[in-house]
Amino acid sequence: MSGPAYKVRTTWRNHLANQSIDPLRIYAPQSIDEVVAIVRAAEEAGVTTRAVGSGHSWSDVALTDGFLMRTDRLSRVPALEPDFLRPAWHGRRLVRAEAGIRLKELNAHLDANGLGLSQMGGYDHQTVAGVISTSTHGSGTTYGPLNDAAHSLDMVVSGGRVLRVERMDGPTDHAAFLAHHGERRTLIQDDDVFDAVAVGMGCMDIVCTALIEVKPRFHLREVREMHPWAKVKADLLDGAVLDDNEHYELVFSPYRRRHEYPCLVTTRNTVADPSHKMLDKRMRNWLVELGAKLPITPRLLNLALHLRPSLAPFLIETAMKALVKDEYDEVSFKVFNIGNANLVPAYSAEIGIPMDGRHIEAVERVFEVADRQRRVGDVYQSSPIALRFVKASPAYASMMYGSDTMMMELIQLRGNEGGYEMLAAYEEALYDRRRSGGVGTERPDSFV
Ligand SMILES: Cc1cc2nc3c(=O)[nH]c(=O)nc-3n(C[C@H](O)[C@H](O)[C@H](O)COP(=O)(O)OP(=O)(O)OC[C@H]3O[C@@H](n4cnc5c(N)ncnc54)[C@H](O)[C@@H]3O)c2cc1C
Repeated sequence: MSGPAYKVRTTWRNHLANQSIDPLRIYAPQSIDEVVAIVRAAEEAGVTTRAVGSGHSWSDVALTDGFLMRTDRLSRVPALEPDFLRPAWHGRRLVRAEAGIRLKELNAHLDANGLGLSQMGGYDHQTVAGVISTSTHGSGTTYGPLNDAAHSLDMVVSGGRVLRVERMDGPTDHAAFLAHHGERRTLIQDDDVFDAVAVGMGCMDIVCTALIEVKPRFHLREVREMHPWAKVKADLLDGAVLDDNEHYELVFSPYRRRHEYPCLVTTRNTVADPSHKMLDKRMRNWLVELGAKLPITPRLLNLALHLRPSLAPFLIETAMKALVKDEYDEVSFKVFNIGNANLVPAYSAEIGIPMDGRHIEAVERVFEVADRQRRVGDVYQSSPIALRFVKASPAYASMMYGSDTMMMELIQLRGNEGGYEMLAAYEEALYDRRRSGGVGTERPDSFV
């Protein structure tokens, strides 16, 4: 069978190597036409095909035993595909990128052109299609997840058909699209279809390009402060911290220290260009950054936790305190990125909780679970737990679908004994349908 080159008998692993698969073939297409050929070849062979980005999902969401398509060669920005903008879209800041470009390279391109993503998560090694397909998010209720910044997707679907999918009032002019592509491609402008495919987790299509709305280049100030949970809880119930800050998030320890659960609160707000400022105000704590980068650090932490698990509450609080800083000003994409903490080998589970007041209850239930695991099995959380707050998304499969959502990220160091079981215990507690009088009783799926 002729067509795009592929490899056989090759294992694909995600970045942490906690997920792997031996697909029948591994392809690395460079164009939409090659993607079409691969999809058709898969159908002829009677197997499925799935695209992968940079493999930064810890779950099995990117695995396939059929044909696996790497997208690292489908990574041009701007993409070669023309936009044909409707007049109403002229003047908006839009960039069409190929699916496999990583945010890191996209940010470099935007920065060089005086632009920036309005929002991103805390890391930049994921691909454009990877973050869109999984509804990757940052924090701040002004912004939805990253898929909400995408207005137009070029994709290949079954039969090798090439579609451009947008909302009804999407950017592409139908007549110009038809004049250019004729019957070879189809433009679908339909809210339901767009909301169904945008967050597809690789099950709906092979995304080849995405048209993303961006902002003029801007700078952010990050402030990090320690507060007790009692204050953070009062702030969250009041809600002003979410209205007054463009970006607000926190990490907390599920263990009481001096009668309080310690929290590290991070706010990020737009500031003027800080180029004239002292270097100290334009960088995070370099010692902490260095510590997080050294491969020995997680090993030492795991060894300490193995020999003396009860050190966990102290270690978690110390790690949070080390990040306190009253002023870190930089260009937005550097401030969004949480830095070398991303390099520490760890995995997490994320649970979305609608922000209807019960999100506070969810945090307190996590305290209970952590306490039980500690008392009964001497098992400890090995990392702070993160809370981020995201505006509702219209994408049907997004965890933020339909309501503003608190995302709770339950993080564990790789190698921490009982780590996966602890994540399962949190999950079980947050989905609990049996507890009489518990939050699960009246609305069984309200933590979903
Ligand atoms: C260190 C680290 C930090 C992270 N920080 C955050 C964060 O701050 N916020 C957050 O929300 N998440 C975060 N994540 C999670 C991460 O953003 C998501 O898992 C994201 O999907 C990873 O992108 P990827 O390019 O690696 O995609 P992959 O993991 O390779 O794939 C993810 C899914 O997208 C599908 N897919 C990929 N490309 C295509 C395509 N071209 N067409 C169709 N489907 C496709 C795959 O089939 C799969 O289902 C983080 C992960 C890590 C490892």
